Amino acid sequence: MKKSDAEWRAELTPEQFSVLRRRGTERAFSGPLNAHKQPGVYQCAGCGTELFRSEAKFDSGTGWPSFWQPADPDAVHTENDHSLLMRRTEVLCATCEGHLGHVFEDGPQPSGLRYCINSAALRFSSESSE
Ligand code: FE
Repeated sequence: MKKSDAEWRAELTPEQFSVLRRRGTERAFSGPLNAHKQPGVYQCAGCGTELFRSEAKFDSGTGWPSFWQPADPDAVHTENDHSLLMRRTEVLCATCEGHLGHVFEDGPQPSGLRYCINSAALRFSSESSE
């Protein structure tokens, strides 16, 4: 899925564009999905792909929606991110290459992972797309 910046700008809100297409980070505790607890699925705000499920969401206390695993291992992919003088692992939507957030190794069992994801990169749906 290849779209120009102009196409993305036309489809996305400024905040979604900043996060998904410019690797932005929303302010902690500012996103509507941080404390969201309803059962359902979280889709990519850019392309609609199902990325995370409510069953894997947990309250990390960080101020960003946090998950211990993606809905499907192939739904997201990761890349090394050495920006801001930190060694982090960036999480992207495997379908549209939108920036979602980062994954850290201090999450709960069974995975031990914490996918720290921007609300602006997600769209909640109470019904599974499957
Ligand atoms: Fe996407």
